[in-house]
Amino acid sequence: MGKQKSPRRKTGAQTGAPGLGTLSVWAGEHNAHWMGSTQVPVVQSVSFGFRDVDQWLAVVRGIQAGHIYSRNTNPTVAAFEEKVRTLEHAEAATSFASGMAAISNTLFTLLSPGDRVVSVKDTYGGTNKIFVEFLPRFQISVTLCDTTDHDAIEAAIAKGCRLVYLETPTNPTNKVLDLARLAAAARRRQASVVVDNTFATPINQQPLRLGADLVIHSATKYLGGHADALGGIVCGRRVLVQHIFHFREITGASLDPMAAYLLLRGMKTLHLRVRQQNQSAMEIARFLDAHPRVSKVFYPGLASHPGHEIARRQMSGFGGVLSFVPEGGFESVKRLLPRLRYAHMAANLGAVETVAGPPATTSHVESSPKERKASGIPEALIRYSVGIEDTADLIADLRQALAKTFAK
Ligand SMILES: *Cc1c(COP(=O)(O)O)cnc(C)c1O
Repeated sequence: MGKQKSPRRKTGAQTGAPGLGTLSVWAGEHNAHWMGSTQVPVVQSVSFGFRDVDQWLAVVRGIQAGHIYSRNTNPTVAAFEEKVRTLEHAEAATSFASGMAAISNTLFTLLSPGDRVVSVKDTYGGTNKIFVEFLPRFQISVTLCDTTDHDAIEAAIAKGCRLVYLETPTNPTNKVLDLARLAAAARRRQASVVVDNTFATPINQQPLRLGADLVIHSATKYLGGHADALGGIVCGRRVLVQHIFHFREITGASLDPMAAYLLLRGMKTLHLRVRQQNQSAMEIARFLDAHPRVSKVFYPGLASHPGHEIARRQMSGFGGVLSFVPEGGFESVKRLLPRLRYAHMAANLGAVETVAGPPATTSHVESSPKERKASGIPEALIRYSVGIEDTADLIADLRQALAKTFAK
């Protein structure tokens, strides 16, 4: 979200209606770069100098394109914002140092004392902490509904609220919310709708097209895709994004240019990674579902999943994260995880490598066992974020780990 208007070279990305793959590669890449470099440079400069005071003032007043200070805007960061903005078909975008910075800055920009937020119990653990710990300190009331009860969520919205905050599919049990239905309910009460689209990515789901006002990503996950940079982004309606940008430029949770570069580079293969992960996750979910030692699998691509019909309607792929419960409780989880050869035991998801862990150490590390129980998250759950390895190798790996876990 800069004051600059980038000069556009005419390419396929501007002339036709390019697909998301073409946009993943080309969007945001069209500024004239240093010495004609074809790659967006890492502009590791805090401030930007001017020839004279008139030019400086013109940039400050937004009359002329340019950057002033990298807490506000930076060319590398602006290219990343433009790429995500284009993929989400949004009017505007602004970025942050992390996903949680994007979420907290958005909430603290849009809410004031006396306001009410309606959300669900299954949001990301950090987001849930903002709802239960921080917002109430500012006299903002938060209603967290049962994620599987659309009637209850609609009824809570109908009572009147400033903001509806949604996340789908949820972390880690893959519950699915009907975005078009809940956005319509919010519109009837003039409430803004914010959707955390981290799990789905713009390749699998486009919340703005379903009626959301703002979409948030932890770019740390799928957008970057390589588990080597933190970042966050908010895109959507220009007036709202402008307010959020202003809050961030003053409070200072800005994205670092080096991280922006890594995220940009990762995003060029977003569509390929997500396509592979969708396909592998589906096959792995079917394998686990049929395994005699697995008591439950949570994946919206399975016809038995309660959110399957909604997911089919609003998503173009079911995503790369699944979770499952092995027989034998938490002891089995502890035995199984170290036996996986092709999975980091780590608190992350959406990377090129498969990552696996229990929610008590990953998505809901911030929550107590009681809070996890209230959110319907079994303690003996394994969240399995599928990487881009060969599907057959991942299935063989799970098969051998399950066999050893349950060997007599
Ligand atoms: C990881 C994650 C976040 C937080 O992002 P950070 O970049 O770690 O701050 C928010 N929402 C979801 C769904 C996530 O998976």
